Amino acid sequence: MSSEDYEVIIGLEVHAELSTKTKIFCSCPTTFGAEPNTQVCPVCMAMPGTLPVLNEKVVEYAVKAGLATNCEISRNSKNDRKNYFYPDTPRAYQISQYDKPLCEHGFIEIETSNGKKKIRITRIHIEDDAGKLNHDELGGGSLVDLNRAGVPLIEIVSEPDLRDAEEVEQYLRKLKSILEYIEVSDCKMQEGSYRADVNVSVRKKGDEKLGTRTEMKNMNSFRSITRAIEYEINRQIDVIEDGGKVEQETLRWDDVSGKTFSMRDKEDAQDYRYFPDPDLVAIKLSDEYIENIKNNLPELPESRKQRYLEQYNLSEKDANIITSSKYLSDLFEKAIEVCHNPKAVNNWIISDISRILNETEMDPIEIPFDAHQLGNLVILIDKGTISSSIGKKVLVELFENPREPEEIIKEKGWIQISEEGAIKEVVLKVLEANPQSITDYKNGKDRALGFLVGQAMKETKGKANPQMLNKMFLEELAK
Ligand code: ADP
Ligand code: MG
Ligand code: ZN
Repeated sequence: MSSEDYEVIIGLEVHAELSTKTKIFCSCPTTFGAEPNTQVCPVCMAMPGTLPVLNEKVVEYAVKAGLATNCEISRNSKNDRKNYFYPDTPRAYQISQYDKPLCEHGFIEIETSNGKKKIRITRIHIEDDAGKLNHDELGGGSLVDLNRAGVPLIEIVSEPDLRDAEEVEQYLRKLKSILEYIEVSDCKMQEGSYRADVNVSVRKKGDEKLGTRTEMKNMNSFRSITRAIEYEINRQIDVIEDGGKVEQETLRWDDVSGKTFSMRDKEDAQDYRYFPDPDLVAIKLSDEYIENIKNNLPELPESRKQRYLEQYNLSEKDANIITSSKYLSDLFEKAIEVCHNPKAVNNWIISDISRILNETEMDPIEIPFDAHQLGNLVILIDKGTISSSIGKKVLVELFENPREPEEIIKEKGWIQISEEGAIKEVVLKVLEANPQSITDYKNGKDRALGFLVGQAMKETKGKANPQMLNKMFLEELAK
């Protein structure tokens, strides 16, 4: 049999760090990147005798996430201890939720090559993040940093509804954008605040029963996730084709070798000895509380998209790209407020900006310039101060060293030459140097004009106003 005879099944567990100011069970700050062990207290260091107190904001954020993903919200939920030993988890248990998660039975919709598809969400629950181990290259051994211990997480578990790497990427992007829109997580993948456990299995087409899954933990780059899924599908098919059995296990993806490695056998729920945390009270939510959060949800991507189609006449494809990220969408709206040229801002975002983001694997949230600077760039082109080809160079500068476009073009001497005398000077110079082109043009070779304009652009390092060049060449050639 070949890989064509197999069906791929994928389900995801996504962890998103919530952007609450303080941790889930104490009042330590959650800011990323502080000196090790400076954002800790006896509670999140798990000193004996300390007691956790649940941060109300965590519940609110999780309910928001549940409502935005069409979940039912539990009126009666609780926290459970999930017992395991890990050197960066001094409590030796995680406070999570077992049989009564806050949110259940939701779904989100993704776009696939075969149209829209609903991916069901099994549950969303709250839990605390673990600390971090830093492997000490110099001294050897490992150092524990507990700043992250107690940072609130939501875990969003999907049903095994995904069928290939492309659907997985669509799902992860859509979910990420929803969480950004409702402002519950910054979803910075490089900082690990949005990461996925990827469960993959294969089965022969037509089989009812799901195959045995393997799980790749803590993946935080779209590119690695795609590569890992493709590798793992082929590995599993090879195992089965060779007459073997896929083992249920936890795998580690290694980006350098492009392979998965076994970390440990998969543990079952019973291995964790879950039980209700006796230090915490039950989480009871009233209808009124939930209704209130629902009524205050910010505008979601779908609704923004509709608005862009109607208000700005964007194409469906462009509107999808722009609303795929709250940061892009905000950039779009704010830049329009500055320059009042939606068409131009749209073009910058879907072409040059998207291309640079792709090439550098940069997340829109990391775009270093602001909407004002983008809006001003559009204005400079609209006014004819610079040409759009110089505009592209300004954009590259904005990514590398953001400052006012006006400042950039002054500093670089990129101001467009629109002064008639100066344009004429260049035109005459180019004509004199290219008599053959004049003959060609007069013999009906229109392409010669383009060549001449190109030469004049070269002469002025792209700074001449192209419309004026065109016009003046035509005038001179007609003489
Ligand atoms: P655990 O924490 O033990 O990994 P969960 O129930 O939290 O268990 O998550 C299981 C994940 O694996 C879910 O996203 C689910 O959709 C997915 N899954 C379950 N069975 C399979 C399977 N046979 N193939 C692929 N994914 C699966
Ligand atoms: Mg899992
Ligand atoms: Zn603390």
